[in-house]
Amino acid sequence: MSLHETPTRVSASRDCPVIQGQRQIQRISSREADVGGLPIHRAMPTRERRTIGAWCFLDHAGPSILRETVDTRVGMKVGPHPHTSLQTFTWMLEGEVQHRDSLGNDQVIRPGQVNLMTAGYGISHTEASLEHSPRLHAAQLWIALPHEHRHTQPRFDHYPVLPRWNLDGADLTLLMGEFEGHEAPCLSFSPLVGMDISGSNNPLTLPLREDFEYGILVLEGSVSLDGDANEAHLATDELAYLGMNRQQLDLQLSADSRILLIGGEPLKQDILMWWNFVGHSREEIIAAQRDWEAASERFGSIPDWPGERLEAPPIPWQQS
Ligand code: MN
Repeated sequence: MSLHETPTRVSASRDCPVIQGQRQIQRISSREADVGGLPIHRAMPTRERRTIGAWCFLDHAGPSILRETVDTRVGMKVGPHPHTSLQTFTWMLEGEVQHRDSLGNDQVIRPGQVNLMTAGYGISHTEASLEHSPRLHAAQLWIALPHEHRHTQPRFDHYPVLPRWNLDGADLTLLMGEFEGHEAPCLSFSPLVGMDISGSNNPLTLPLREDFEYGILVLEGSVSLDGDANEAHLATDELAYLGMNRQQLDLQLSADSRILLIGGEPLKQDILMWWNFVGHSREEIIAAQRDWEAASERFGSIPDWPGERLEAPPIPWQQS
């Protein structure tokens, strides 16, 4: 999954908008994008919000029946493409997607599972829906690696089982970090949390960390949020940014709803995002793109992929 837009310097986070002295919950609409032939909703980065903690990219695919949205002979197919200085985090809700990468990993991800690829210095991978799997519902996020880990050894981890529990009738799945005594197994390089919440008509109160900033994306249905004397009602594919310094959040999901809670310590450094690369300087981005175009060993290859590797669009600000 990739980012085709003007390269962006991603600044450290700012807080929610303040209107008449009162901090508001910031509402952000996803925009539509295309990933490997599949229409998706992209909630980050947007003009209004580039990062939440180290989470720096958020795509929501589906829920959809593939035969209605894409060529059935192909399904969703994302050809070989590189990543640097980030982790790709895939949370599967419906359907099956096969991940293959330049380290030789070949892993089908199924509902309730997480795939986490740490790109570090450089990796390439492919993602393809399986033929017998007509439905697809998934979220894919990117996590920016901190400066000191940006060139870490690439690796891939598959997590088939995550902590799940019930809170006041809601089903909670912890995807990243710690929450209320539960701990997700997923590898992280900065303080983060990620949680899937579904299926309750009861009001819920979630304790929050004051040193984390948080966001909520509605994956299905709708949710009402009430944080520090301001309210927001969010529809599917709306993102709410909650900022920092909140001790708790009251929320109520409508029937058959599902939300994704993400949060973390705000990034300490500015990062750059261009195409599939995160970099901590223009030079790093330019070098990554040059190495991909030169088919450098840095990004390896995917053997027997029946198609072309993806081509990076030219960097508009690169000096020639
Ligand atoms: Mn990718």
